[in-house]
Amino acid sequence: MTFTNDDTCPVCGLSRDLGLCVCESMAQQEQKVTVKLERRKWGRIYSIIRFENPGEIDISDLATKLKSKLACGGSAKNKQIELQGDHSLVLEDLLTGLGFPRDNLEVNYEVPQRKRARN
Ligand SMILES: [Zn+2]
Repeated sequence: MTFTNDDTCPVCGLSRDLGLCVCESMAQQEQKVTVKLERRKWGRIYSIIRFENPGEIDISDLATKLKSKLACGGSAKNKQIELQGDHSLVLEDLLTGLGFPRDNLEVNYEVPQRKRARN
């Protein structure tokens, strides 16, 4: 049996090992991204980045990059990245820097009000 290290992308036919595959950056170019803030348990604010159709995009790799740039905690699951804290001032620039066109970013930084206790 022969093993090959050459990881050729089945879509564009270019090598992923050599970083030639263009699918991820093409997916980023077309990606609709929604960015918003959410108030969670104990009033903590989270910055949520949601991808309409991640496809070739490596969401967990992206989350790792964002977490290290922002020095915050967070997680990646399904189509969305959750970052601890309010990063609304820098997230647009960071995402643009990572290859997501600003025109495709839908941003809603209105923070939902804290729910009143009901008793
Ligand atoms: Zn490809």
